[in-house]
Amino acid sequence: MGILKKLVKKIWANRLFWNIVGYYFRTPGVIVLMYHRIGDKDPFFPSQDLENFRSQMLWIKNNCHVIGPDKYQWALTQPRSRKPYVLVTFDDGYRCCYEYAYPILEALSIPAIVFLATQPTDEGGLIWTEQVFLAVNQCRKTEITLPWEKNNKLKLTTKEDKRKIVVLAKNYLKKQKNIHRLEMLKQFYENLGVTDQTQIERQMLNWQEVRESSSLVTYGGHTHTHPIMSRIDVQQLEYEIKHCRDRITEETDVTPKYFAYPNGRFEDYNKDCIRILEKYGFELSFTTNEGINSRQDKLMEIKRIPTGAEHIEDFIWLLSRAAG
Ligand SMILES: [Zn+2]
Repeated sequence: MGILKKLVKKIWANRLFWNIVGYYFRTPGVIVLMYHRIGDKDPFFPSQDLENFRSQMLWIKNNCHVIGPDKYQWALTQPRSRKPYVLVTFDDGYRCCYEYAYPILEALSIPAIVFLATQPTDEGGLIWTEQVFLAVNQCRKTEITLPWEKNNKLKLTTKEDKRKIVVLAKNYLKKQKNIHRLEMLKQFYENLGVTDQTQIERQMLNWQEVRESSSLVTYGGHTHTHPIMSRIDVQQLEYEIKHCRDRITEETDVTPKYFAYPNGRFEDYNKDCIRILEKYGFELSFTTNEGINSRQDKLMEIKRIPTGAEHIEDFIWLLSRAAG
């Protein structure tokens, strides 16, 4: 990064600047932050650093109005303020949200929403994209072929080889019809010589943890099996949404009203998803499209801001500008 840009970000992050000058230059609207894994002590899976998360939470607590999802629509109607409205969200429902992130949220009284894929919560397994990551990293072979590219032998010796194969596999599989994806996944694990029945510590929240944290954390839906919703037929879509809603209702006594699309980009959801979500009582739905939300934006296509920035200045810059 250029020295000038670094300097601009540093000035921008100054509290006085944020309150006075920033007020005029910030993109107005409601900011929704998107988190996944936080603070795993022995991070086998990619995870956001705990201290980094803590400093982001402290910063928004002091410089923004932190809101829960029930205030989202109200916040959209509020006049521009020196402290913008911010909602904290977590996707997938990782155990670390409860173990590491929740105590920080509790200490600072920051409400949040966690979107649960209910099958991994029910069964204790991993979301399929992480299963791919795990299987590639557990593979002992030095060369493999992908089931959808049978003539192409790929090396699997270095960390970089593994990273590349994970990216290749995820990119390919996310684009496939769900039935084909499941078939290809099965063959992929066979080629790797690793079963998808993983022998690792529980990674996802269980229902007990969900219930224990539910006074501060709202639980929303994220489908049952975490498919790409635009790649499944309407009948399956209905099952994924309804079953997810029903499981959360059964376990928490609260019917979820908020939802996040798995993967969440424009191509990952469609009109059918929105129609069926509304049919089952969902009022807000969150994408992974980047941006800050205004009154004109659709409630079923809420934009969010990724939070992986290593330095707090970069995080604050993102809060203000949404992109760049
Ligand atoms: Zn997800």
